[in-house]
Amino acid sequence: MNRNYCQSRSIALRLAGKVPIVFLILSSIALTGCDRRDRSTLASPPPNPTPQAQKTAADPTIPNLGIPIDCELDRDCYIMHYVDRDPDPNEELDFNCGRQTYDTHKGTDFGIPDERAMAEGVAVLAAADGTVLRVRDGQPDRRATADQIEEVEAQQTECGNGMVIDHGNGWETQYCHLRNGSVAVQPGTQVKKGDVLGLVGLSGKTQFPHVHLSVRHNGEVVDPFVGDTQESGCQVTRNPMWDRPLAYDPTGLIRAGFSTVQPTFDDLWAGRFAETELSKDSPALIFWVHVYGVLKGDIQRFRMFDPTGREFLNQETEVEAPSRTWVGFVGKRNTADQPIIPGTWRGEYQLKRGDEVIVEVERSIEVK
Ligand SMILES: [Zn+2]
Repeated sequence: MNRNYCQSRSIALRLAGKVPIVFLILSSIALTGCDRRDRSTLASPPPNPTPQAQKTAADPTIPNLGIPIDCELDRDCYIMHYVDRDPDPNEELDFNCGRQTYDTHKGTDFGIPDERAMAEGVAVLAAADGTVLRVRDGQPDRRATADQIEEVEAQQTECGNGMVIDHGNGWETQYCHLRNGSVAVQPGTQVKKGDVLGLVGLSGKTQFPHVHLSVRHNGEVVDPFVGDTQESGCQVTRNPMWDRPLAYDPTGLIRAGFSTVQPTFDDLWAGRFAETELSKDSPALIFWVHVYGVLKGDIQRFRMFDPTGREFLNQETEVEAPSRTWVGFVGKRNTADQPIIPGTWRGEYQLKRGDEVIVEVERSIEVK
C-alpha cells in the first residue's frame, strides 16, 4: 500500500452498554486532505514556546500578504495545516511548536467546511499584487484515493489546478487544489491583491476542499507566519508576512449538526447532514461534530436535550490519541418506549484542554 495515502481509520469506539437507548460513539481518522497518513508523532506541543520579539519595520520589498481565500477565518473557514518547520525527514513541527502540519508540508492550508461550500463557490484571492507566471486547470475535483495519489505524483500534478504569481524581488506565491474549470487568470495576467484567481476546489493531491498557499523567496519556501529566515524549528524570531494579525488556532470546529445514521468522514466532507428538519420516524437522532487538531488528553463533553428541555445525555470522554481531524458523535435510538418526539432537539459540545474550552458549539434540529 502506498504509505502516502491518507487512509481513514477508526481509533476509538465506545458503546455505553449500560444505557441501551442512548449511545455514545467516538471515532477519529488520521489526517485527511493531506499528503500522508497520520502518524503517532502528532503530539502535544512543548509547553510555553518562547515568545519572540517581532520586528515592526516594514520592508517594502517583502510582500504584505492578504489571506488567499474569500471567507472569515474561524467562522467560514479555518487553517488546517501550517508549514512544516522541522528539517528532519519523518518529523513535523509548526511555527508555534505544535503539530498541526505534516512532514514536508510547504505551505498553509485554508480549509472550507465541506463540498457543499465548495459547490456554492468560495473565491481564491491573490495574496499580493503581481504577475501570473504559470497556471494549470482541467484536473478533476475528488477526494484522492491511493491510486489517484500515485497518479498525480507520477504526473507531478500534486498541486492540481492552480497558479504561481511573481511579486518581484524573488518573491512568489503558489495556489493549489482549485476547482476544475475555475481558474480565472492566465500567464501574464497582472493581478492586484484580493483579485479573484479562481475557486476553492479539491484537485490534485488532496482529500478535503481547501486552498494551499506556498510562499517562496528565491525558490526557497518561506513560512508566512515566520517570514524570511534561514532558521528552522519553532523557537525563532517571527516577522509574519500577513497584513493582519492571524491567530494560531491549531484546534477548531469544521462543522456540526444532526443525522439519523452514524456519520463517516466521507459523508461530512461531502457536505451531507445539513438538514434543518428530520422525521420523527427516523431510526435514530445523532448529534455530531467535525473538529480539527485534537490532542491526546483533550476532554470532550456532549449534552443532548429533548423538546421538553430535559437533558437526556451528558457524557465526558478523554481523547485517547491525537488526530488532525476528528469526528465525535452521540445519539439516541428511536424506540417505542422513548420515541423521538416532534419538537426542537438540541445538542451541546465542548472540547477542553486543561481548564480551557477550545471548541464550543450548540446546534438544534426540528423533528416533525
Ligand atoms: Zn497544503
